[in-house]
Amino acid sequence: MEKKKNNQPAKKSELKKEQTPKKYTNYPSIVDHSSEAQAKWAPWVRQGLWDIKGYRIVKGPAGGGTIDDSKMNLKEFMVIDRSEACLYSHSYGLVSLFFLGLLHGKLKGTKCPKCGTVYCPPRAHCWNPACKVEETKWIDMPLTGIIHTFTVQCLAAAPFEHMLPFSLGWVQVDGADTAICTMLHIPYKDMFIGQKVRMEFKPQKERKGDLMDMYAVAIPGQELPAWAVLQRDKQQLKMLDEATSATSRFIKNRYGLDNSNRGW
Ligand SMILES: [Zn+2]
Repeated sequence: MEKKKNNQPAKKSELKKEQTPKKYTNYPSIVDHSSEAQAKWAPWVRQGLWDIKGYRIVKGPAGGGTIDDSKMNLKEFMVIDRSEACLYSHSYGLVSLFFLGLLHGKLKGTKCPKCGTVYCPPRAHCWNPACKVEETKWIDMPLTGIIHTFTVQCLAAAPFEHMLPFSLGWVQVDGADTAICTMLHIPYKDMFIGQKVRMEFKPQKERKGDLMDMYAVAIPGQELPAWAVLQRDKQQLKMLDEATSATSRFIKNRYGLDNSNRGW
């Protein structure tokens, strides 16, 4: 075996030579093509990624087993087309009925026939390991529930930015074992965990068959509970007031929209 020749620490002069960065001259001049492209993409990113252009109902094979088995089990699926930025159609698959329900102002959930777990939003199959992926059954859900938790948003993904500031909540619909994420049309000063809410739908013409068709409002006449700490923390409320006011000003500058007086 060859003996390692240089296991001595490097001399000071060698180190200095290696650590000195090379000096470059004659940088190429950079032409900015990206800002122009970004300006063209911005409206697509904002609307195209989320906005639904339309939907169709298609009939197709479903379920497990062989392909021939699934052809014997035809089901209806809701396929949606998003705007120009998305070049493909998107099927809601086995939970299509939930989104069709939203279009008609109805809230649907699913229930496992084995263990009785109620899912809203729906799951096509039970995730209780004891049920071994049992297929669930559709049930109608009531339009009432409670806020499990919530957040006040001053930042959002591009398609939702123009709606800022807004609040999102996880709402446990009455009878459900899971919670659904939804917009809260409630002023954050009145909002608390455990608050009773009612699910409402946008006017029929504005519904598109997605989660944004629905939002929650507070059921009036509820006492502020002892655990509603936000309302008692003056400093936190002040911080939220400043953050949401600044966000509203930003949205007004960027989109010309006044989101400060929506009442929620
Ligand atoms: Zn189950």
